Amino acid sequence: MNDALTQILSKTAHSREELIQLLSAEPGNETDIILQKGLEVKAAYPGRKVYLRGLIELSNRCAKNCFYCGIRGGNRKVERYTLSDREVLNAAEFAWREGFGSLVIQTGERKSKAFGLHIERLLKAIHQATNHELTITLSCGEQSAETYRRWRQAGAHRYLLRIETTNRELFYQIHPRDRKHDFDTRLQALDLLRQEGYQVGTGVMIGLPGQTLADLADDLLFFKSQDIDMVGMGPYIEHADTPMYPLRLQLWPAAERFRVGLLMIALLRIQMPWINIAASTALETLDPLGRQKGILAGANVVMPNLTPVVDRKKYQLYDNKPNLDKDASLSTVTLNKVIGEIGETINLHQAGDSLHFIRRNRIEK
Ligand code: SAH
Ligand code: SF4
Repeated sequence: MNDALTQILSKTAHSREELIQLLSAEPGNETDIILQKGLEVKAAYPGRKVYLRGLIELSNRCAKNCFYCGIRGGNRKVERYTLSDREVLNAAEFAWREGFGSLVIQTGERKSKAFGLHIERLLKAIHQATNHELTITLSCGEQSAETYRRWRQAGAHRYLLRIETTNRELFYQIHPRDRKHDFDTRLQALDLLRQEGYQVGTGVMIGLPGQTLADLADDLLFFKSQDIDMVGMGPYIEHADTPMYPLRLQLWPAAERFRVGLLMIALLRIQMPWINIAASTALETLDPLGRQKGILAGANVVMPNLTPVVDRKKYQLYDNKPNLDKDASLSTVTLNKVIGEIGETINLHQAGDSLHFIRRNRIEK
């Protein structure tokens, strides 16, 4: 089998059948060969460098009800919060001082005019407070073209909107079937983001109940067909106060979800060598060395959490979220150390734009 694997891996693009075969690799040697290839491709293209994005979890208020998510609007047990402008600016200034180069602002999804204006105001205030030296990624859900445009004009550069799964049927098993949770609307939102000039990021959850390796192969092909600039994907992790919790008995064991999560990173790096790929926090939840392992499979972005510690525990998308009590400076020191130890360099004071985006714009112009 190893020879067959090596032969398939010598290609730079893979068919659906080949991807399924690669995703079916056994734990141990077969998996290691694929992960090693992911690292080789990363070393040869973007290089063994890691970019930091300071993550600000702006608010856990959410108008949606995704069945998998701990902060879904219907979860009455969550104490809701929204960070003050001062708290956001403190986090942004910390990222700026530390040389992170970039921020991610993530929130539950809301569509009100007030919410749109709030984000717009924050974008402008952050740029002003940090001498326009940070790039900003938003992860604030599905919005109108108008809202995306205003946010882009106010200084957002990138946008992360996971499709969650490209299997339409599975999508409707993990979301309520209503207008607020519509597969086609989510797909169209990715098009809108692209039209508005964002670096567009998407992603999926790995190891959802009922998800197959063929679904994951389709997800990889989807990223390619959409010519996506960046991907954040990670294992699905159950949350006790969600409708999907009872399905936990059907899940692949956590170690398997983790291993397949790494395989997905490596295979994506091979298919799309220039894109940015995040080593997700969910990887770290399932394995204390998850982030490093993600980087060694081909990821090149990590997102240290800058949310004030008191609010972090209120933003639990899934159980056992890591670093709930660590302040940002502590996790940054650790991060520097561990990333150096695995032979990678943190690229400080750099925007870390998706090289795929830069190349695609050159071609489109
Ligand atoms: N509200 C925005 C951004 C916050 S949620 C949005 O939904 O786009 C960000 C991501 O967290 C989601 O896209 C989803 O993929 C991930 N997520 C939510 N619940 C999760 C869970 N239980 N396990 C793993 N990832 C989860
Ligand atoms: Fe809200 Fe995003 Fe969670 Fe869905 S995944 S419930 S949109 S925060």
